[in-house]
Amino acid sequence: MSVHTVSHGYVNSFVVVGDGVTLIDTGVKGGDQKILEALADLGKGPRDVHRIILTHLHTDHAGAAARLKEVTGAPVYMHPVDAELVRQGIASRPGFTGVFPLNGLMSVAQRLMPGRYRPCEVDHEVVEGDVIEDGFQVVFTPGHSAGHISLLREGWLFAGDAAANIRRPGPPLIFEDRALSRQSFQRLAALDFESAGFGHGRTIDKAAAARFKVR
Ligand SMILES: [Zn+2]
Ligand SMILES: [Zn+2]
Repeated sequence: MSVHTVSHGYVNSFVVVGDGVTLIDTGVKGGDQKILEALADLGKGPRDVHRIILTHLHTDHAGAAARLKEVTGAPVYMHPVDAELVRQGIASRPGFTGVFPLNGLMSVAQRLMPGRYRPCEVDHEVVEGDVIEDGFQVVFTPGHSAGHISLLREGWLFAGDAAANIRRPGPPLIFEDRALSRQSFQRLAALDFESAGFGHGRTIDKAAAARFKVR
């Protein structure tokens, strides 16, 4: 398996090449271009993509999902709780808030979170313990959003926004439910993995789990 981080500036998505090609998150509206370029660099075309997994509903992760589904023809996987909103093109829930006094961050967050994007059909709803084809284990990590999932595969954790690697891996600074987001982070910190990819912050290639435990 090889993992390729695709940076959209402030948010990452991932191209995972295993038995098939999997996209994890899509970036913002327009993020499809960056992903198609990353695929081309790997000698792959859009039709080589086997599946798209969305960690959660926010526009910086699901904003280009409809477009990428269209060009790849690949099925979309997501937790049912967030899928319900993605199907309607609703990008965040009311009550999405941040740690005081990060007001600056919140205004950035709100700018990045337009209320709507192009609705995207979700083909497969997945929950805690499911294993998506090609071996992605679903870990339910609510709090940042109510239907957030992280993924484990072959020593890799794909945390989405359940953890952010700002100075070091930590719980998200913005969330729907802070207590729940911290519980979910602790759950990730108790797992065994070697490498970790984040929605926000640098990918960690080696000894990543230990970095989650140093608080
Ligand atoms: Zn998010
Ligand atoms: Zn995000």
